[in-house]
Formats: sequence, structure tokens, C-alpha cells
Amino acid sequence: MKKLLLGILGALLVFSAQARLNVVATTPDLASVAKEVGGDKIELTTLARPTEDPHFVDAKPSFILKLNKADALIHGGAELESGWLSPLLAGARNAKLVSASKGDVRCCEGVRMLEVPAKLDRSEGDIHAAGNPHYLVDPENAKIVAHHIADAFASLDPANKEAYLANAKKFAATLDAKLKEWQAALAPFKGNHLVAYHNSWVYFADRFGLKIELFLEPKPGIPPSPAHMAEVISKMKAEQARVIIVDPYLNRKTAETVARSTDAKVVDVAQFPGGVKGTEGGYIALMDYLVNSLAKALGAPGTAPAR
Ligand SMILES: [Zn+2]
Repeated sequence: MKKLLLGILGALLVFSAQARLNVVATTPDLASVAKEVGGDKIELTTLARPTEDPHFVDAKPSFILKLNKADALIHGGAELESGWLSPLLAGARNAKLVSASKGDVRCCEGVRMLEVPAKLDRSEGDIHAAGNPHYLVDPENAKIVAHHIADAFASLDPANKEAYLANAKKFAATLDAKLKEWQAALAPFKGNHLVAYHNSWVYFADRFGLKIELFLEPKPGIPPSPAHMAEVISKMKAEQARVIIVDPYLNRKTAETVARSTDAKVVDVAQFPGGVKGTEGGYIALMDYLVNSLAKALGAPGTAPAR
């Protein structure tokens, strides 16, 4: 009997050691960082597709089931996903994910948010009313997020704490090395003006000394109007902006129309690994692509090809 009990206990211990943390990430960039930190210790599901607008994700009923079974939810915490995530969470009824519990991993904690208005104003449909939520395209912020995720995983799964912390440290060290390379590649273009369709590049621009202050959308989430486009065209000419960047889910044709009137180039970009071809490898492959394609468009002599 004692032997049998010990056997059962042993089997249970093996089972619990093998049970992986069940993690859901809202967007593919957060998922990529979570994968760097969690490695094979986690089971990872990503909700938004890499080519999908993170503000307006198609909330499938299957997401509710995923959220119901999750031990942790990795999300931006800065209202990027609030429109579609809140109803899913309400449907999932998972006590592990409620606000401020261990499984509620708000990645913006510790990140210095930009464009936070002094007063909350959602008038005219501004979807960045609480500050700009697109902070992960700054590699320094990716480091902060990696450490934050590692702490969360360590607290949920103490047996693998050392592995999580070591993985985050390793990822941060890789980013430090790559950051030098990326900054060198974009250094010749310091102060150059670029135009974006949607205001999701302020953190990237700040990190690399670029100016991305002109947008085809008059306000985040508001479609371009002829009057606004005319204004953008005249400002582009004044600023000598020659590159318009467009995410996969936005209207490239509008960007092409503006480009024709200004002699500019349209460059396909993404904030999510897999959003444009060649970036499927993860966060670092994505940053490689962004830096190299922008350096090329801005007139650099060839830089290292994206991994
Ligand atoms: Zn946005």
C-alpha cells in the first residue's frame, strides 16, 4: 500500500513538473517576447494575427475558451486591446486573469508611456486617448517587457524561476548588442522626416532619432479625408519627407496616392513578427527588417539583410 501511494505521489510530481504554464498573449509581438522568456516551459496562444489591426481584432468565440483555461494573459495594458479584449475576458470568467492577479500580466508596467494627454479626451473617436499604446517597437521597451514577463512567470511557476530569469537576461543582452547595430544603420538619417499612416511609430522614432510626426489619419482611428491629405502633402513637401510607412491592415492605396503627389516611396512595415514577409522569426527578425528597409528607403548604402 505504502509503495503504491509513493508510486502515485511520484507520478503526480512528474506530472506537475511537466505541466506547462498555459499562456495567452494578445498580440504577436508580446507573444514573441513571451516565447523568448518562457521557451519550452510554456504553452503559448496568440489571439491577434500579425496582419490584423491590434485595435480591432476579430474576437472569435474560441478565444473565450482559450482565456478560460489560461494561467496567464500577456497584454499591453495601455488600452490597445481594450475594445475587443474586455468582452472576451468577461465571457471567459477566469479568476486567474482578473485585474491585479498574478496571471494578469500588464506589460506597460515600467514603460515610459508617450503622448499621455493631461486630460482624457475620447472626442472625435481618438483611440489613443490614454497615451500612445504602441510602445514595443522600441527595443529598450522590449527589454522592460521581457523582465516583467519573467517575473510574472517566476511567480506563477516558481520551479522554473531560474530559467525564466536567465532567458530574459539573455534576450536583453541580445537586444543590447543588436541595438548598437540598428542605431548605427539609422544614424545617417537622424532628423529625417517620415510619414506614417497611423500614429504607431513614436517610440521607434524616438529611439532612432527619426521624426514620424505626420500621419495620413487625422487622428488615430479616423480615416484620411481629402482636406487632411492635402495638408499632409503640403507639409511633406516642406519637410522633404520622402517615405510613407504603412502597416499591412491599412489602406496602401491611400498612401500610394499621397506618394505620387510628393515623389515619396511607400514602405511596408509591421509592428508584429510575421506582419510582413521575412519577419516570421520573431521580434529581432522584425526589428532587423524595419531598420534595414527604412535605411534602404532613406537612401542608405546596403545594410545587412534581415535574418
Ligand atoms: Zn494605435
